[in-house]
Amino acid sequence: MSRRRKIYEGKAKILYEGPEPGTLVQFFKDDATAFNAQKHEIVDGKGVLNNRISEYVFEQLNRIGLPTHFIRRINMREQLIKEVEIIPLEVVVRNVAAGSLSKRLGVEEGSVLPRSIIEFYYKNDELNDPIVSEEHITAFGWASPPEIDDMMALAIRINDFLSGLFYGVGIQLVDFKIEFGRLYENDMMRVILADEISPDSCRLWDVKTKDKMDKDRFRQDLGGMLEAYREVASRLGILNENEPPRGKGPVLVKSD
Ligand code: UDP
Repeated sequence: MSRRRKIYEGKAKILYEGPEPGTLVQFFKDDATAFNAQKHEIVDGKGVLNNRISEYVFEQLNRIGLPTHFIRRINMREQLIKEVEIIPLEVVVRNVAAGSLSKRLGVEEGSVLPRSIIEFYYKNDELNDPIVSEEHITAFGWASPPEIDDMMALAIRINDFLSGLFYGVGIQLVDFKIEFGRLYENDMMRVILADEISPDSCRLWDVKTKDKMDKDRFRQDLGGMLEAYREVASRLGILNENEPPRGKGPVLVKSD
């Protein structure tokens, strides 16, 4: 199907060689997976929505000077990105208790956390992405102490920015997972945001109804996954595919 050389295929995305050195093409698949791919379905159109939503979020982050791998969207399913060396960690930021935090620590789902919490998970499917501490990360050389500092500082900025962005369109950012990569430029290396930010990697709840608008619809068999993703895109003002790709920007939802 593609004329490009495949570099890597994951559960929801494929990376191809880019048009110039130092670039890659990130392709968004329609595959929905959960529980380390034990549950797997094709959700027609999910890749297109995630491409658009992630593009929008990364573009806004680039605009506020937060370094990301995103260069530009190429088409409905592909974006051009900077090639980085992925740090093998999933960085999770939480504002409200849900998912594995609620399960592990017995904190009721939906309770607002006393402060935002950052967690690290080691990216390893065979081990089921175990939670790890900074001690493990530095001892096993997955990232250095300054890289951990950079990731935490960027994660907090991303959380503050995205919490506001989503709140403005009536969505509560409960938690999300991000990944970072090392970008080598001349003799310099810096840590930048990589991967994607989409309803696949975030928990997004409607502010008023607390309806889930994210991958939990798939994980928990709630149905309406695609509709929920479409609603997220629509509220961000990026839904209509016949319109120019830049979108109209977020639409303010007034709280009463
Ligand atoms: N998450 C993700 N990929 C993973 C694990 C988690 O994108 O492999 C996201 C998930 O969508 C949620 C956040 O990270 O927004 C925290 O997930 P949690 O640790 O609660 O795990 P889960 O309950 O999804 O197993």
